[in-house]
Amino acid sequence: MILTVLDALRAAEARLRAVPEARLDAEYLLAHVLGVPRMNMLVDKRRELTDAQIRAYEALLLRRESREPLQYILGSQSFMGFSFKTDSRALIPRFDTEALCEEALRFVRPGDRVLDLCTGSGALAIAIQKLRPAARVTASDISPDALALARENAQALGAQVRFAQGDLFSPLSGEQFHVIVSNPPYIPEGLRGTLQAEVEREPALALFAGGDGLDFYRRIALEAPAHLFPRGRLCLEVGDGEAGAVAALLKDGFEQIAILNDLSGLPRVVSAAKKEESAHDGSPV
Ligand code: GLN
Repeated sequence: MILTVLDALRAAEARLRAVPEARLDAEYLLAHVLGVPRMNMLVDKRRELTDAQIRAYEALLLRRESREPLQYILGSQSFMGFSFKTDSRALIPRFDTEALCEEALRFVRPGDRVLDLCTGSGALAIAIQKLRPAARVTASDISPDALALARENAQALGAQVRFAQGDLFSPLSGEQFHVIVSNPPYIPEGLRGTLQAEVEREPALALFAGGDGLDFYRRIALEAPAHLFPRGRLCLEVGDGEAGAVAALLKDGFEQIAILNDLSGLPRVVSAAKKEESAHDGSPV
């Protein structure tokens, strides 16, 4: 039986009906099999598929039907205009996180030392290094698997990033930075099992952060000042409804605390400068 692109997409859409964006995913997966951009495929919908292409498409549909994330199947995701390799070793770079990257970039000057804490796939560290080539970027993560993926991404994108493995600041004792950026785990433990099926397939280590989701912010608020130069900047991504609580956690060690929205208009970033104790220690000027 002869199948065209159009036939295959119709069948796939029906098969993926439980998946949130079935038609779009069906298109991305078929374009991936054909090795052409999705738009090129769509202008030639009467193209006939070979048996091998049909078999390859079937295999990918089976994975997507099981709710494996689209980006793990396609193997890449764009972040800040760069293509990052994605697989189950790390969280998939999110569009929302570009707001965090933009905010951090505002503070990075030539020669600055920048730290991406909990780097995962390396997206933030690598994008910052590519966009601020004179910065010296370090990326850390507790997961050796995530760091292996981040290293592959740095190499593929030609980014000079130094990597460190360990729990938060533990591999960075005695080191200071001008800018610390972090998208730490921030989902409350109690939501485990209730998230979108695709998110549940990402590493739990990258997602969950104690009863209220704030465990990592508590530790970062306490530990980051010692790792920042005077007036150093801390930029954090926060989960839904967490911005106010995170800003409050930063009050002791930081000033100029700002909450910024992502492009969907949701509070997504908390940005703050390390407090200068000597300048004013609580007494009015
Ligand atoms: N933004 C991710 C999500 O909502 C969570 C990432 C994180 O915990 N840092 O699925």
